[in-house]
Amino acid sequence: MDQLIKKIKAQEEIANQLESELPVRQQLLEKVNRFANQFLEELPTANAYKQQEPKEEAFKVSEEPKTIEEILQIIQEQVFEPGIRAASGGHLGYIPGGGVFASSLGDFLAAISNEYAGIAFASPGAVAMENVILNWLKKLFSFPENAVGNLASGGSISSLIALTAARDKYGVKNQHILQSVIYLTPQIHHCIQKSLKIIGLEDVIIRYIPLDGQFRMDTFALEKQIQADKSQGLSPFLVIASAGTTDVGAIDPLNEIADIAQRHQLWFHVDAAYGGFFILTSKKHAFKGIERADSLVVDPHKGMFLPYGIGAVLVKDAAAVLHSNLYMANYMQDALSEDLVKSPANVSPELTKHFRALRIWLPLQLHGIAPFAASLEEKLLLTVYFRKQLLASGFQVGPEPDLSVSYFWYLYPLDENNFNKRLLHYIHEDGTVFLSSTMLEGRFVIRIAILSFRTKLETIDRAMEMLQRCLEKTKMDFNQPE
Ligand SMILES: *Cc1c(COP(=O)(O)O)cnc(C)c1O
Repeated sequence: MDQLIKKIKAQEEIANQLESELPVRQQLLEKVNRFANQFLEELPTANAYKQQEPKEEAFKVSEEPKTIEEILQIIQEQVFEPGIRAASGGHLGYIPGGGVFASSLGDFLAAISNEYAGIAFASPGAVAMENVILNWLKKLFSFPENAVGNLASGGSISSLIALTAARDKYGVKNQHILQSVIYLTPQIHHCIQKSLKIIGLEDVIIRYIPLDGQFRMDTFALEKQIQADKSQGLSPFLVIASAGTTDVGAIDPLNEIADIAQRHQLWFHVDAAYGGFFILTSKKHAFKGIERADSLVVDPHKGMFLPYGIGAVLVKDAAAVLHSNLYMANYMQDALSEDLVKSPANVSPELTKHFRALRIWLPLQLHGIAPFAASLEEKLLLTVYFRKQLLASGFQVGPEPDLSVSYFWYLYPLDENNFNKRLLHYIHEDGTVFLSSTMLEGRFVIRIAILSFRTKLETIDRAMEMLQRCLEKTKMDFNQPE
């Protein structure tokens, strides 16, 4: 016995290093806080992009502990420097997010308390908070109170939950898969096709419905395609619309699609991962019909500027969601008594889950909703401003966007795509702001995606100056000096 106790004590002495004493914690926090503040203070003037590879050996895990200073330096040099500075207002590529500070405090407290947020029995408070947030979202999108929802890691897992529910509701399995039809547009986000593969629907029939001149689903073509499929004995079951496409920010005609879905008894899913929160703005009217969706995905780590790692899904048919996600195990028997759909674990693939609700709830409590809405409205106006500036500087711009994503290119007959590729190359080399590109109808175009709460009028002016610099260099390369 003595021997055993001695052994335990010996291990305990080493293991105790994991629990820092108060003065040590204070010191660590102070240093990390100073480091974080320096990062934030430098953000407005720091470049948004740096073409650089991190040195992997710097991350090496070794037996030798490092000081916090050494650790922060590795983070600074190998993580913060290379690639896109996603917290920067100069991030105008892909779909930017942001990183509202108050959210980091939520994450801090979530990690400190380590609430078990997947099961109401374990953390009734964390689960109640998640459900209150979901109820707020239901209200925002005029979903019924008895819809179920989940705060997932992002739009992709949220979509997975929604599409699985649609699959289960319509019993799309075994031999039915080959006759089942899904309708979407070529502008759909690729996480949808990925989800379909993951949930065993790789072999369904997917109909890509043509777009109108504004990159929105042509509902006339949708109706015609459904009728043709039905007359062939196929089983249409799902139509997926976008409320803000990634490429151009287009909102499909949701209300008309809802009519068609209703008429043909299809599940209507809306991907509002990027665009959803613009329902808080003057663009609210464009979302008419979203309330008629059977399921909806929206990403607070985009439209609410929260740090990455939070998406949300709402589904009206609770039974359909429970079908694939509800499992009972003997070791879970103490958790059984509660209302099933209340516990996140019953409506999502996750069991143990991060206390995600706190990173959205805390900022909403601290700031209220108004600054979020104002920032989104500001983004819409900045998009108009950017496009006007681009036109004034001789660029071509795409059609007027529904939201805050648009695109432009420089007219250069005969070798236009290569010219614009070179232009993008210089933009990336410069790095003042970050822009990405896409192909639209065979044309290489440069996207502008304005969604960071830190993107300001001044950011757009800096972007325009950078574009002028890069355009001149490109013209030189193509022997078209000023
Ligand atoms: C970002 C995005 C997704 C994917 O969401 P993640 O949070 O990146 O997983 C899906 N659809 C649209 C329209 C998006 O913009």
